[in-house]
Amino acid sequence: MIKKLILLIAFASIAIAACAKQKSIIKPVPVKLTAEQMMAYLTDDDKLGRETGSVPMAAIQKWLVQRFNDYGIKPLPKTKSLLQEFEVDGKNGQLTAANIIGYIDCHCDNDRYFIIGAHYDHIGVNSKLEGDQIFNGADDDASGVVASLLIARELSKTPKLPFHIIIAAWDAEEKGLLGSKYFVENPLVNLSKIESGFMFELVGSKSDKKTAWMTGFSYSSLYPLMKKQMTKQGWQLGEDPFAQQMLFMRSDNAPFALMDMTREKANQVFREHQKADIKGIPVHAISIWKGQPHYHQVGDDMSVIDFDNLTDFSLAIANAIKSLPQDTQIEWLENPQFNFTRP
Ligand SMILES: [Zn+2]
Repeated sequence: MIKKLILLIAFASIAIAACAKQKSIIKPVPVKLTAEQMMAYLTDDDKLGRETGSVPMAAIQKWLVQRFNDYGIKPLPKTKSLLQEFEVDGKNGQLTAANIIGYIDCHCDNDRYFIIGAHYDHIGVNSKLEGDQIFNGADDDASGVVASLLIARELSKTPKLPFHIIIAAWDAEEKGLLGSKYFVENPLVNLSKIESGFMFELVGSKSDKKTAWMTGFSYSSLYPLMKKQMTKQGWQLGEDPFAQQMLFMRSDNAPFALMDMTREKANQVFREHQKADIKGIPVHAISIWKGQPHYHQVGDDMSVIDFDNLTDFSLAIANAIKSLPQDTQIEWLENPQFNFTRP
């Protein structure tokens, strides 16, 4: 018995020594967080509803930078940082906000980019409410951030992509799309190199399984192309069910797609029903939400999220992007509202 024990101890110490030796050679493997774990972090009550400029935002930005590092998202060429800081007017003076932006190299001979992302800010706290006062923003838009990270993780494992992929986590969306606007006005890459892309808005909702939809579906050739690719992944990509609400103009895709939009042009289109000339890149928004009542309510927390569907969606999008041909060109299409031209 004692002999056996000595033998066991000897084996164990050899094994430990081997392990220690290996550890020094192998790079540390980043913790593979699940969608649920990432969501739990972003929507914790201690994040106080992720309002732009609020105290918890610095820690959230740091966490996002860590995830970007873990998942192989590098600062854009000619930049050193994943953070793009900017100032926002607040009630009591200037607030510091920050987009987290990087890219995954395609390891190909294409110099064009495809952009995906979501906003990580939300609407904070309302101290006048009875009971729960924290707007955790699980679906809006922690779900989009989680999807972006899961997609990045998948794409960065791929030896060759059809084009470079920019991943963005926008700040100050809830203050009027200010983060994405700031990027378009202060781009870290030549905007003419961005071929197309989409932003995720409320992609965690418990709706019909494997069913998503795209805003501005009739405006560019991105919709039919992605619809085809998503069908191959077992997903339906439908038309925007809320066309009257013009959600195409109300998410972080808008500063890209409607670069020189003005109040006059909006009036021209929606009051006078005349076409407006617009300069922009065909960037759209994708959502899974079907009008569930949690939108901008304190009840938008972990309980409204379908994690299996969100994870499956992210994989489907990643696979769809991977399978796009390298020569993919997205064109603006004839439509009743806008005469689009590229910048
Ligand atoms: Zn949103």
